[in-house]
Amino acid sequence: MQFLPATFAHAAKLAGLIKPDICNPADAIPAAAAYLVSNGAPGDWTRALYRYDPATWYPPLVMSWAQRYGDGALVVWPLIGTITQGFGPTTFTAEPPRCYEGHCYAHFHDGLDIAAPLGTPVRAIAAGRVVLAGRLSDGAVVVEIEHGPDVLSLYGHLQVTLAVHLGDSVVAGQVLGTVGLTGNTTGPHLHFAIYDAGVPIDPLLILPVRP
Ligand SMILES: [Zn+2]
Repeated sequence: MQFLPATFAHAAKLAGLIKPDICNPADAIPAAAAYLVSNGAPGDWTRALYRYDPATWYPPLVMSWAQRYGDGALVVWPLIGTITQGFGPTTFTAEPPRCYEGHCYAHFHDGLDIAAPLGTPVRAIAAGRVVLAGRLSDGAVVVEIEHGPDVLSLYGHLQVTLAVHLGDSVVAGQVLGTVGLTGNTTGPHLHFAIYDAGVPIDPLLILPVRP
């Protein structure tokens, strides 16, 4: 962020700086933060950035760079609910066999099942691109997000009406759809999985400490 002297004087006053120096990052950074907060950040970054530079292209450009450096690493839970089945070998005979880390199991659950009421919003755990949004052959409505080369997150048993389409870019926390009963399921829950180069990994290793 770059200030005109008059805007900097105003922003420095908002930040409560004494003898502010526009060339000193120790003054410029809090002044920029105070200025943006006074215009609605962090609740509404787009409005705050637009007040700083009223060009329609400016807020999306800044936000896309911010995401590349900061928000892109943000990981959130897809929803808040009760984990009814964890990751790994299981006695649930509905789960398929899988060999994992040198052992083969008759039944292996490749994700987390998180129970929540029908219609609960399901959110992208991190920024990425929608690579699948639709119905699988077993009837399950699924969204898949690619977060990086070969790193996917999968959200299953959603209701038919989705909030995203194939190819959409999403940010962490963006609603993808809602908890449904599509596919083979005995009650409303989200089947959530993360794959690294096609190999499932325990989502609890990736998700933050439970909120
Ligand atoms: Zn499951």
